[in-house]
Amino acid sequence: MPNKIDRINPWDVATRQMDIAVERLKLDPGVSEKIKQTKRELIVHFPVEMDDGSVKIFTGYRVQHNMARGPGKGGIRYHPDVDLDEVRALAMWMTWKAAVVNIPFGGAKGGVQCDPKSMSLQELENMTRRFTWEIAFIIGPDQDIPAPDVYTNPQVMAWIMDTYSILKGYTVHGVVTGKPLELGGSLGRFEATGKGVFIIAQEAARHSDIPIEGARVAVQGCGNVGGIAAQYFDRAGAKVIAISDSRGGIYNKKGLNVSDVLDCKKRYSCLITPEGRAGEEITNEELLEIDCDILIPSALENQITQKNAPKIKTKLIAEGANGPTTPEADKILYDRGIFVVPDILANAGGVTVSYFEWVQNLQELIWSEEEISVRLTRIMKRSFEEVLTISQREKVDMRTAALMLGIGRVAAATKLRGIYP
Ligand code: NAD
Repeated sequence: MPNKIDRINPWDVATRQMDIAVERLKLDPGVSEKIKQTKRELIVHFPVEMDDGSVKIFTGYRVQHNMARGPGKGGIRYHPDVDLDEVRALAMWMTWKAAVVNIPFGGAKGGVQCDPKSMSLQELENMTRRFTWEIAFIIGPDQDIPAPDVYTNPQVMAWIMDTYSILKGYTVHGVVTGKPLELGGSLGRFEATGKGVFIIAQEAARHSDIPIEGARVAVQGCGNVGGIAAQYFDRAGAKVIAISDSRGGIYNKKGLNVSDVLDCKKRYSCLITPEGRAGEEITNEELLEIDCDILIPSALENQITQKNAPKIKTKLIAEGANGPTTPEADKILYDRGIFVVPDILANAGGVTVSYFEWVQNLQELIWSEEEISVRLTRIMKRSFEEVLTISQREKVDMRTAALMLGIGRVAAATKLRGIYP
């Protein structure tokens, strides 16, 4: 991973992507300027008591990019690299994503700059509860609904929900999604993003004449998104030939035993144990350049750049991560005939089932797993078709097409609402 100094700025990437689509849409400049800006940015510095009795100050963010189509929606990330521009970019991508799949949410995102791997469970709980308190006045079921992202999980959502409920004086299920099932979580939410990536990759593979059975798949990142997507590919008869985590990856051209690798990761926090070597060790950089049919980047931003895009040897990329490809790389991949399904479509399964969770919470209903799966599949397939149609009609790559669809919907809502007063 590049260090912080030569890191590509995700906000710069997000706004440049937006500019490409806005130019095609020929939007009213007043509207495009409005939707380019974030609506609200909250930065908080707050104290947390650590296990050794010391007090540490953390910095956290909640950014609401646009709420023209509904309350803000977007995850909370715990990572040392979290900063305002990253959270802004992630919030903007959430706005377009919710609009692409046509669910009534705006876009938001949050994060705390921290190293969760070096913190105890108690420290994480203390940090989560105090961060929730700091941002409580701008979140809520009608305002802005957080969810899990990198290094946050259902337990973190449970702490947020509990802290927010204590502040209100009654239980508020709908303040976060991605909760444990015992606390109003939805069946199918945990799998939703990875499953959605698989559904979209299947559609894209059909379009590109790549049979899923036997397809060679490489997955960068094996957390909630990458790990689950890998399992879906494996079950469908694809060959997952490489998978990685933050420390590097494992490669076997005959195909990995996905459940063994993920089990190893769960037990030992590592993909490779000395006794159970299932393939050769590779770096994250090497994984992206492996000869494969389908590549699933599902870790962090800016992984595919102008440096490695010419060396990528896949036919199809479905972006599980947010912002893994820079605009320069997009152009190279498009010119090389590599079909890229962008993040705001490929990983929208998460926000879609988050929407189902929120609807169930508001109505105090519980939907069956089958109901969730049928609705998710329908929305993902419909959205893929809509984006593909625009891409073919306008002769643009799938990212520009998805942005045109999403931004067009947000612009229409903004125009209809008008300016107050
Ligand atoms: P996670 O915390 O569950 O997993 C992150 C994975 O990435 C882990 O396997 C970790 O080891 C790996 N990783 C971390 N740093 C890495 C690095 N430098 N190189 C390679 N791998 C690295 O997070 P997640 O929820 O799976 O999120 C992954 C991506 O998917 C993020 O871009 C996130 O924004 C996006 N996303 C998540 C959801 C969701 O519902 N969780 C929804 C949409 C998009």
